[in-house]
Amino acid sequence: MNNDPNCLFCKIVGRKIPAKLVHSDEMAIAFEDLNPQAPTHILIVPNKHIADIQSMKESDRELIGHLFFVAQNLAGKLGLSKDGYRLVINNGRDAGQAVFHIHLHLLAGRAFAWPPG
Ligand code: AMP
Ligand code: ZN
Repeated sequence: MNNDPNCLFCKIVGRKIPAKLVHSDEMAIAFEDLNPQAPTHILIVPNKHIADIQSMKESDRELIGHLFFVAQNLAGKLGLSKDGYRLVINNGRDAGQAVFHIHLHLLAGRAFAWPPG
């Protein structure tokens, strides 16, 4: 697997740092955010290290699509579909990206404002 030894999420993928896992498969994991911004706040993370959207390759197409199906699956399992949920990717400094290993935030359990601020 394509990993960066200094990357926090690669360490979680490699089980070197603990996390509350809610999903894992051959392509991705999902775990609870350490600093939740909503009653449900899950991070969906590819096992492969991809720093950000600009770093994605054509060959990552299936992997990136898979992240959305993990979100769909978790939303179904957690009963989030009725009231809705928000998927967020913070890409780059101005968007507030803190961990440069691409990830989807799955947020639910309250109403979210728009525009997001
Ligand atoms: P972002 O700002 O989009 O890069 O999001 C990074 C997210 O990772 C933030 O919501 C943090 O709360 C979360 N986070 C940071 N460290 C950990 C950790 N060890 N376990 C779980 N979530 C974390
Ligand atoms: Zn990484």
